[in-house]
Amino acid sequence: MLSMVNTHLYKPNLVIVISGPSGSGKSTVVNALYKADQTLRLSVSATTRKPRPREVDGVNYHFLSKAEFEKHIQQNNFLEWAEYQDNFYGTLKSEIAAAREAGKDTVLEIEVKGALQIKRQNLAPARSLLIFIIPPSFEVLAKRLRGRKTESETELKQRLDIATSEVGELQHYDYWVSNPEGPVQNAVDQIQTIIAAERSRIDTKLIETINPLFGVF
Ligand code: 5GP
Repeated sequence: MLSMVNTHLYKPNLVIVISGPSGSGKSTVVNALYKADQTLRLSVSATTRKPRPREVDGVNYHFLSKAEFEKHIQQNNFLEWAEYQDNFYGTLKSEIAAAREAGKDTVLEIEVKGALQIKRQNLAPARSLLIFIIPPSFEVLAKRLRGRKTESETELKQRLDIATSEVGELQHYDYWVSNPEGPVQNAVDQIQTIIAAERSRIDTKLIETINPLFGVF
């Protein structure tokens, strides 16, 4: 659907940030979105967290030691980074550059502190679009986290506490998307609609593209 929207003049420049509490289903939504839309590039984050079963280095994350991560911080290589449950997570600037080179918009699946760092920055010529995924209820969130059995009971409790504080930052986001129980298609459709609208927004970059084509100088 999206490839048909305003493509002939649109130059990809969106940094699409997708957040939502652990258990909101955001990874599933983001992966389905990526599969459905070839005009997006998924950023691969760096983390000091240990890989979970079936996670692949360079695909799900760049799994780094703490020393490696700190070196990237010192070298100013991160667009944003944050601590989450005693581990570091961050987006390397090179991920945004790679999307630009590929002529695609970038999608970041990151937690709230990192999202707010991106919002505060001037990314010109790129611009940010912050989307928050809301699960149907707190109970469903807890059920989903328990069901995936990847965290201990203590970690699970921590993740639920973080979920509460993350939802408290909703006002800083541009859009929200609900992810009810069942197939994620509904959430994916909502996100694609938001992206389509943002690609039609008149910004400086678009003006610079269109004006000369019609003799406006
Ligand atoms: P998980 O350990 O479940 O993969 O991720 C924990 C949290 O870190 C999730 O909310 C996830 O979205 C977030 N996260 C993943 N990558 C990044 C990143 O590059 N930067 C930030 N700030 N958060 C991230």
